[in-house]
Amino acid sequence: MADKGLLLVLSGPSGVGKGTVKSAIVKNKVFPFEYSVSMTTRKPRPGEVNGKDYFFVSEERFKQAINHGELLEYNRYVDHYYGTPLTPVKKMLEQGKDVLLEIDVNGAQKVREQMPDGVFIFLTPPDLHTLHERLENRGTESEDIIMGRIKQAREEILVMQDYDYAVVNDEVANAVHHIKAIVDAEHVSVKRVIDTYRKMVRED
Ligand code: 5GP
Repeated sequence: MADKGLLLVLSGPSGVGKGTVKSAIVKNKVFPFEYSVSMTTRKPRPGEVNGKDYFFVSEERFKQAINHGELLEYNRYVDHYYGTPLTPVKKMLEQGKDVLLEIDVNGAQKVREQMPDGVFIFLTPPDLHTLHERLENRGTESEDIIMGRIKQAREEILVMQDYDYAVVNDEVANAVHHIKAIVDAEHVSVKRVIDTYRKMVRED
């Protein structure tokens, strides 16, 4: 049986650039992984593709997924539901594939409770001013929503203490570089490889 893959949880305040960093990792094939496509009740933004960026579903379908235990975690965030489908994540990990989740801090906390072996990476903005600018430049939210997200970000930055790594997203390329270093190191950490070596010495 293949060794289990790593569960990589990329999280941080909204607007910090999690999506951009994830896309850069995918585009540049920085390391191999499977992306866990979330389910959401929000409407697609221009260019977003159903089944690739998100599974865009109705509130009724989302509630059904909650009730049937289909989600590893979910959260209601700025009037919409977001959640991680459980079965594909479990399957990919069992097949030895690394799985990347890009989720909010509330969801990451819930994942940590259930899968403490995961690698929890907190993406931080260089400062709150930069975060505000990024949300504004995205041009997809009203000022009210942006202010709500900044308020939430102040609280969210403090939850960094529950994570394994903090990566500053000053430049996407820097953040990606640090994340690759983390993944490489995790693959050779003693706690992950010790069982293989125990088996090896028993067999000799
Ligand atoms: P957006 O609407 O900008 O795509 O996402 C809003 C927030 O929801 C982001 O912080 C994003 O990381 C988070 N998010 C996306 N998918 C999930 C998920 O499956 N679970 C949770 N808890 N948050 C998610």
